[in-house]
Amino acid sequence: MAIVQENCKKICFFTLGCRLNTAESDALASKFLKKGFALVSSKNKAERPDVVFINTCSVTADADATSRHIIRKMRREHAQAVIVVSGCFAENRREELASMLMADLCLSIADKEADDLVERVEALLRCRNGGIGGDGGGDSVGVRGVRDGVQHRIRTRAFVKVQDGCDYFCAYCIVPHVRGRARSLPIPTVLADVRQLLCACPDESAPKEIVLTGVNIGSGKNFKQLILEMVKLERELPQLRRWRISSIEPNTVDDELLNILKSSSAFQPYFHIPLQSGSERILQKMGRRYSCVEYRRVVENILTYFPRAGIGADVIVGYLGEGDTDFMECQAFIRELPLTHLHVFPYSPREKTRAFLEWNNQKSLRVDSHDLKQRTKILRELGEVKLATFANKMCGTQAEVLFEGRVAIGESGEKIHKGYTGNYLEVGAVGSKLKNQIMNVKLERVVISGNNGNGGKSYILSKLLN
Ligand code: SF4
Repeated sequence: MAIVQENCKKICFFTLGCRLNTAESDALASKFLKKGFALVSSKNKAERPDVVFINTCSVTADADATSRHIIRKMRREHAQAVIVVSGCFAENRREELASMLMADLCLSIADKEADDLVERVEALLRCRNGGIGGDGGGDSVGVRGVRDGVQHRIRTRAFVKVQDGCDYFCAYCIVPHVRGRARSLPIPTVLADVRQLLCACPDESAPKEIVLTGVNIGSGKNFKQLILEMVKLERELPQLRRWRISSIEPNTVDDELLNILKSSSAFQPYFHIPLQSGSERILQKMGRRYSCVEYRRVVENILTYFPRAGIGADVIVGYLGEGDTDFMECQAFIRELPLTHLHVFPYSPREKTRAFLEWNNQKSLRVDSHDLKQRTKILRELGEVKLATFANKMCGTQAEVLFEGRVAIGESGEKIHKGYTGNYLEVGAVGSKLKNQIMNVKLERVVISGNNGNGGKSYILSKLLN
């Protein structure tokens, strides 16, 4: 629990959506911490934050609804606070957000990177406090009073932004409309962020895994060079023991990239390769830049380099005009592919996109809600089968696991600590002081957590080896 001095301004973050948002919230939190703010939890009302920062998402209609709900909830629960809203919902639904009259400051994507952001928020705070200034004069108070651990957001896994925006403009996707054209961060900036995260706090609280994240990371011209530099950095910086890449488009995964990744001893072999549909016709309608045949080749190629790799995919079901035959084709394609993790989303139309125009003008192309639910259910179940098959295949082998802070209750009532393998299998083990530790384990058997009779989440029970 943070110890925060009375005169220290308090800020909490609420982050929705993708890993890029998480990386951005982390970077913003650092900016506020440097200016003397203390980080508190949004869940504990007793903390009474002065500023609530909500980083929203707008990728689907559900994400919009969640963003609205959280903004209202935070306004209700923290009536005294300055509410700042940023992210894709703030960009995409600017007018709606203004009409909600809930936020004190709505930030565009570009505003978030502005140098004077903290000063703008501080000015709002002074207005809210009757123009006197909550800290008695307007200057930031020092970081004294905030324990060291709070100055750095302690996470087992840290997200580092390497790229933003996208030039692909897939027919259904709102992201390029809200995040803008593709641009990559300079390599020295990314490497400096990685160093800072790993070295700025004591080893036991420093993150043990770095995730390079962005909207379309592989499309950046300097991406392979960045990966090469990460491999060099891991030789120079022993703290860099595990790193990953976030979702990457299939057309950007080639032999050159896989060769560089293979030369790393810290890269974790999990690839999230968005598929979106397993029907050639629907893929084309979506305006994706690959065919099913090419997608399959990419997945098979990854496995020749990393035979134990986990491979995840996003799939959109019920896209405009998806008939029974298209869905069956999609289902059959996914069943055959050696995918291990499936993220299934029902299609939801997004204004400003090409697909939205079609959805509006050709109602006959819409998939009815019953079929949409059925198809989503079928593919989600297929996803569970694939994950269980992969987990069972890995049983009997050894793996390195990064343990997080989560615990579950085991079959005999014992405490099971949870973490993830490099190929992103959830693992549990009995032990002590495992949080934020990388341990060697023997993967023993798949168990279902929770004894509530409704099934539950499965994980691999393991035995510690060191
Ligand atoms: S690649 Fe397509 S789906 Fe992904 S962010 Fe770009 S436009 Fe959206």
